Parts: sequence; structure tokens; C-alpha cells
Amino acid sequence: LNKWNEIPLAPPDKILGISEAFVKDTNTKKINLGVGAYRDNNGRPIIFPAVKEAEKILYGLETEKEYTPIIGSKKYQNIVKNFIFNNSNKDPNGKKLIDEGRIVTSQTISGTGSLRVIADFLNRFYSSKKILVPKPTWANHVAVFNDAGLQPEFYNYYDKSANDLEFESLKSSLLSQPKESIVLLHACCHNPTGLDLTPEQQDEVLQIIQDKSFYPLVDMAYQGFASGDPYKDIGFIRKLNSLVVDGKINSYALCQSFAKNMGLYGERTGSISIITESADHSKAIESQLKKLIRPIYSSPPIHGSKIVEVIFDEQYQLLPKWLGDLDAVVGRLNTVRSKLYENLDKSSYNWDHLLKQRGMFVYTGLTSEQVIKLRNDYSVYATEDGRFSISGINDGNVEYLANAINEVIK
Ligand code: PLP
Repeated sequence: LNKWNEIPLAPPDKILGISEAFVKDTNTKKINLGVGAYRDNNGRPIIFPAVKEAEKILYGLETEKEYTPIIGSKKYQNIVKNFIFNNSNKDPNGKKLIDEGRIVTSQTISGTGSLRVIADFLNRFYSSKKILVPKPTWANHVAVFNDAGLQPEFYNYYDKSANDLEFESLKSSLLSQPKESIVLLHACCHNPTGLDLTPEQQDEVLQIIQDKSFYPLVDMAYQGFASGDPYKDIGFIRKLNSLVVDGKINSYALCQSFAKNMGLYGERTGSISIITESADHSKAIESQLKKLIRPIYSSPPIHGSKIVEVIFDEQYQLLPKWLGDLDAVVGRLNTVRSKLYENLDKSSYNWDHLLKQRGMFVYTGLTSEQVIKLRNDYSVYATEDGRFSISGINDGNVEYLANAINEVIK
């Protein structure tokens, strides 16, 4: 153990390091493609108009800032359950699970908080510590799971040389793992690759999950970013609900976040839901979830969850407005993705993978040397894995960016 006065310097966060270097750069054409937070066509962050309206309503409504319960308000929990599992009356299996009291939902400190809480929970109660995560995955997954005492290990996911899923080796690497391992799956818009399993591939993975008795943990940070419609992006959850109702799997857990799809980043508003075996099992799980959360942060923040409550409250008619706001955000990302594709030189490099990717990122397949050259020669800042956050691209810089990329791949 290090002595107090010998605490070593921790390595800087890679993405924040990029932003710092970007701020210092004096080139007026500089572009920041590091951070995965939405920017409009003028490069500015936004507040969703529906969220702004909800805040105005809240301003008139709120008379106190009391604590919410440890796992959030019942209203918020029910909204999340209905929104995701019942798919607003479109998933009979999810509805059955809700009606039978087989879903325990807690508000959490956004998606990261939800991942940490479930990781602690699994470490405390689940039979295996091993958690299989896709290679590559969001870097914080590995950090969260390690810190919670789980043992993350990669399963094959993406072949960078082919810029495509490596599905055969994905399956064989899962099959080589011990029974009852936990397996992390991205619900949609896989970060960083933007490439998701097809519904048929999902079925094959779900079969492996059953054969190996794996525990599915689903991370859904980009619900709505695949199709523009959050109700359409939950095909994988619906498949899981059907397997639970058919008795083929007993349980799974879902980490969800409103950071991206409602633009509530700093409000830290998300949830964890655990599918249980019975209403009695739910009681036990909920009580243990409370016991786990209470000594960490006592109860979650309330501003973001109240915004969600207002948006889903029928009397204010904000739900269609929010869905429209989200669709516009996703529409811009898709337009920029196509514009970038159009401007790229396809004579020396195949860029078709860009068109298959969904969500906030373009996973270019560029090498770290090429990314560094983009930074040094063109003031284009991105992580060295070649992931570009589309948010940083707009009508004003897409041609400059494409030209820079065309130069570095020559
Ligand atoms: N999961 C994935 C894959 C993410 O990309 C992110 C954010 O970038 C999160 C979870 C958590 O985000 P937040 O804690 O802001 O909700």
C-alpha cells in the first residue's frame, strides 16, 4: 500500500484531456470530436424545448425541495416501467411482468450511477463475479465494474481491420466463458462502434445466454438514437421480456439514462430495473437495493426526475413534444453522418461502415497515428481509437473535416 504522502499521480481522463488540449488550440478551424454530448448545427449545447417547458411548469408547481425516497418517487418508477417495459401498452410481456410485480425499479444517479449500483448489487448477491463486456466498450464500464469488485473480461465484438462486427468470434468467445457469468450488452447504438447486433444475431446471443445460464445486464444510454423513436429502440428488451415470461430466463437487469435522449446530462437522471422471479422476490430485492444505496448517497437528485415526471404527465401534453425534439436531434446526427460520408474520398478507403453505424458516434477505423496527425496538422481532436462524436460536426465544418481525413489517409 502507498503511504499517504506517496500517493501517485493518476492518469488523466482521456476524453477530458482532449477537451483541455482543444481549449488551448488557437486555430479558428479547430473541431472537438471527443465529448459524447449533443451540439446543434452551430456547435452549441442545447436544452430540449420540451424540457425547458417542463421546467417552467415545475417552477410554478414546486413548493418544497424535500428528499425523495432512497429509490426515487413511485411516480418516477412507474413512468420508467411503463415507458420501457410496457412500451406504452405495446409489450404484453412487459406489462405482465409489471402487473405481477416482477420489476423493481430505482431512480439512480444517471446511467453511470445505475451501472455502479447494479455492479455493487451483483457483487453482493450474485453467484459469479465475472462480467463479460464487448471489445471495445465504453471505457467507464471496465472502471465501474472493477471498482465494484467484479471481474470484467472482454468478449469479441468488433473487427477493426474489417470495420465490422465479428459475430462468429463473438459467439465463440462467449461460449468459452464459464456458466453463470454476467454478460453486458448495449441495448442500442453501441458505444464506441455505433454497430448493433441485428435482431437475428440478438436471438443467437440470447440462445447462448440461456445455454450458459449467463446473467444479462443491459446498458441503455442511447434509447431513441438508433431510430429517432425511443419506443422503437427497445427490441432487445422486448425479446428479454418474452424469454422471462416463457420461463426461459429468470432475471435480468437494465441500466437506463435520460442524459442523452432528454439532454439531462448534468441532472443525473436514470434508473436501474431488476426483473425478479416473483412479487415476494421483488420485495427482498427492493429492500436490499435500498440498503445498498442508503449508505452511498442516501437518495437521488430530484430536479431531473421531476422534469421526467412532468413530461410524462398527460395533462401537460409534453410527451409528443419531447419525442419531436429527440427525433430532430437524431435527424441532425444522421444528416451530418451522411454529409461526412458524401465528402469522404472513397477511392482509397472504404467508408461504407459509416452508413451502418447509429447513434452519437462515427467509429472511423482510423489508426491512432492518423488521429494524432489530424490533431497536429488540422486541429481535429478525437480519441485515439478513431471514435468521432458527431455532435462536434456541423454544416460549417463538415467539409473541412472530410478534407482533413482525406489528407491523412492518403
Ligand atoms: N453507458 C454508456 C454506453 C455511455 O456511453 C454512457 C455515457 O456516455 C453512460 C452509460 C452513462 O452516462 P450517464 O451517466 O451520463 O447517464
